[in-house]
Amino acid sequence: MSRTIIISNRLPVQLKINNGNLSAEPSVGGLATGLKSVHREGNGLWIGWTGLTEEDTPKAMEGEIDQALAELNCAKVVLNAEEIDGFYFGFSNRTVWPLFHYFLEYSEFELDFWEAYKRVNQKFADAILEVATDDDIIWVHDYQLMLVPQMVKEKRPNATIGFFLHIPFPSFEIFRTMPWREEVLDGLLGADLLGFHTYDYERHFLSSVRRLKGLEVSFNEIYLENRVIKVDSFPMGIDYKKFHNAAKDSATLSGKDRTDLQIKLDEHKKAAPNTKLIISIDRLDYSKGIAARIKAFEYFLIKNPEYKEKVRLIILAVPSRSNVPQYQLLKKEIDELIGRINGELSTVNWTPIWYFYRSLPFENLIDLYTKCDIAWLTPLRDGMNLVAKEFVACRTDQSGVLILSEMAGSAYEMNEALLINPNNFEEQAAALKEAINMPLEEQKNRNKLLQQRLERYNVEFWANEFMTALKDQQNDENVYV
Ligand code: UDP
Repeated sequence: MSRTIIISNRLPVQLKINNGNLSAEPSVGGLATGLKSVHREGNGLWIGWTGLTEEDTPKAMEGEIDQALAELNCAKVVLNAEEIDGFYFGFSNRTVWPLFHYFLEYSEFELDFWEAYKRVNQKFADAILEVATDDDIIWVHDYQLMLVPQMVKEKRPNATIGFFLHIPFPSFEIFRTMPWREEVLDGLLGADLLGFHTYDYERHFLSSVRRLKGLEVSFNEIYLENRVIKVDSFPMGIDYKKFHNAAKDSATLSGKDRTDLQIKLDEHKKAAPNTKLIISIDRLDYSKGIAARIKAFEYFLIKNPEYKEKVRLIILAVPSRSNVPQYQLLKKEIDELIGRINGELSTVNWTPIWYFYRSLPFENLIDLYTKCDIAWLTPLRDGMNLVAKEFVACRTDQSGVLILSEMAGSAYEMNEALLINPNNFEEQAAALKEAINMPLEEQKNRNKLLQQRLERYNVEFWANEFMTALKDQQNDENVYV
């Protein structure tokens, strides 16, 4: 019987060892939720790294770990600290991530990183080959594992392999600068179906295939000697119900059940009922445009001094990849910018920016999404940006305004938001003004349409669409020509 094998860098569970005791916490991320039904159906298996390094895992506990994972239909790939350095922090996050987000100047083309990437991709491929048969459907995820499709195809030519890229695929002019561009394309072309968030990323990929590999491309199909590869866009959605219902529940909490953050935000709203709260929530990553957003906010306040004391920007920056130097520099830049602007513009009653450098528990995230008036998200490049979708899903009364960068994949599906170019401060200042003054009726009209779309095209829909297309490839006799 054919089964589905999902493979991603991280498993949907996080393993921890505390004083010799093993615990497995389910991951709360969108991917884990979206793939839940795919993973459950027909004897599914999920392969990935546990989050524990080889050095942190006592040999004597291996059996216990395997058993705990087997009970969750998971299997592990073991990585040591050196492999994580070269493969994950190195090639994945210092070469591919900046390059694919158009930060060419941050991309490091280090042979050692590339060698580690190849070795670790082979480890993941071997973990699949150990268990997969020719009948299985294999779904490989994301930029850390771009060589895996080919490595598996070589040994299991009849297995059906899908690949989904969760980050942008850059234009040919950017992609061509990578020394290992052909090897990366070869790796991806091991798949039978390749999925991207947007049509533009798909188009960029096809153009690189045509120009670098000289392959025949017709519409969304790539013709190899013995098979046809399909390429398509599948914009990823969110678990709409989870966010919408959590927001509803949070609105009905009263008295001591309210979270501390809710109480603080309510107190603030009471003390300054006319102050509009603007939130921005992102991992602290240069692709998110946080520093430029802070500068744009300063520009807005200086240009429109009448809004001083009338607006407050709440920045939640979630720590990320903090051992990569670019991220440390960015953290320093943001700390200094906020310090300077708050120092310059604060009054006795008002601080323009509240800054949190941490991750928040789910219910507090919901508090922020529901209690603010405006979400302002300005990535310079973003594969999708789920925060934009989560914010809209949480507006149960349909109030609120989303200001979103047109460089985010989600902007393609969120036309009713105020779409801005994150490099254009003038336009952003105008959008902030428009958002602050937008009549409630108009907010509702926009959010109603957005919510209908988000509810329908949720994360489960995304996973099903991809799986249906992949199964079509499996059944399609024309695949072999
Ligand atoms: N998020 C989180 N904890 C926080 C803040 C955010 O788990 O304290 C989540 C948020 O709900 C969203 C994800 O992090 O699902 C960020 O996804 P997005 O696509 O916006 O950006 P990415 O970080 O994947 O680049």
